[in-house]
Amino acid sequence: MNSHTSLTVIEHEHASGSGKPGWLARLGERLRIRRAGGWHRQAVAGVLPKGAINLSTNDYLGLAQHPRVIEGAVRAVRESGAGSRASRLAGGSLELHERLEARLALFKGAQGARLFPTGYMANLGVFSALVGADDLALGDKLNHASLLDGAGLAAGRARVYRHGDIARAEELARRHLEERPEATVWLVSDSVFSMDGDVAAIAELGAMRDRLGREFPEGGVCLILDEAHATGVLGPGGAGLDAAAGHVADITISTASKALGSLGGFVCGRVEVIEALDNFSRPFIFTTAAAPAQVGAIDAALDMIRDEPERRARLGDVIVQVRTGLREAGWRVASADEALTPIVPLVVGEAEDAVELSRKMAEARIWAPAIRPPTVERGGSRVRISLHSELSERDIEKILDCLDRARREFGGGSAPSD
Ligand code: PMP
Repeated sequence: MNSHTSLTVIEHEHASGSGKPGWLARLGERLRIRRAGGWHRQAVAGVLPKGAINLSTNDYLGLAQHPRVIEGAVRAVRESGAGSRASRLAGGSLELHERLEARLALFKGAQGARLFPTGYMANLGVFSALVGADDLALGDKLNHASLLDGAGLAAGRARVYRHGDIARAEELARRHLEERPEATVWLVSDSVFSMDGDVAAIAELGAMRDRLGREFPEGGVCLILDEAHATGVLGPGGAGLDAAAGHVADITISTASKALGSLGGFVCGRVEVIEALDNFSRPFIFTTAAAPAQVGAIDAALDMIRDEPERRARLGDVIVQVRTGLREAGWRVASADEALTPIVPLVVGEAEDAVELSRKMAEARIWAPAIRPPTVERGGSRVRISLHSELSERDIEKILDCLDRARREFGGGSAPSD
């Protein structure tokens, strides 16, 4: 706390006469309850000990600190400045935004793309722009929080279906369309689920969209996939799982904050979708355009993803080795055949156990966060390891050795599908 902030606090307390004002006391109580539940969180700068293995980031290809990506950011700043100075529709659109969007559309095999400052905003922006008052936003229960929040912001109804239960999703969608045949169901799913690391059944979601589209041609179903954890990592040339499935989705949303090592969300789809974002998406319209540094870094990351496919191949190797090793040690994690994704949840149940496992790993100089409610359901607390291409064979040995010992203490974890 700096001296200015402490002075302000003292003045407030004097003003209320009885120490803390009511709102502050209530906030304190909410925080106390959170601490008592073992769910308290704090944004602290991660001080990674030298030589420690970092399994806590989404930098799957090691690009965030790569000199080429840094240079891309620096060049863009030199050429276009530190900030974009206005929103995209009010003079903030720079040539570099347009060039990058054209490249992103090509990368994703879409007609067009729009860049938002973050993936979270892209998800808010899509729903607020597209979902009409009679429509239904229908999503997998384990979708990322930003999709759930986006659906909550939308004008229409929002519902979730049990994780992976496409039959139930179809039932809910059909019921909505039977009552309002002119409405649209906006069906949304993560392609790689961010907490369990499992993958959506994209072909089945697409088939359901097609079936209902034939039955209810007036409104139908629009399939939206959040490719945050797939873009840059999975699919042909790193284009994601929708590209791997043959471009099933109507709209994809991605983030540059993970494998692309930078920051920024992008929505890809038909030209009408892009035009709708420009016109109806408040999170797009009323915020300043993404900063040049972000755009330059994303562009350089796309160069690297194109030029260095060996990074993706190495990540694939790491995933196979770690998932196989963990299964051999008795951890109930999905095999690489079931989920060739870098997110591996070690589910231990209670929040304290997850914190303890994370601490044990830290003792072995392996950094991986405990994930607790409300991010995951009660009883589903876990340590989530995020693998990346920069792990050496020795690192993998250390990880497996540590988790082999930990497994006996913490039980076997449970597979995402349990
Ligand atoms: N979607 C998913 C599936 C995510 O995991 C995340 C990031 N945690 C986001 C969207 C949001 O992306 P960003 O960090 O760029 O806001």
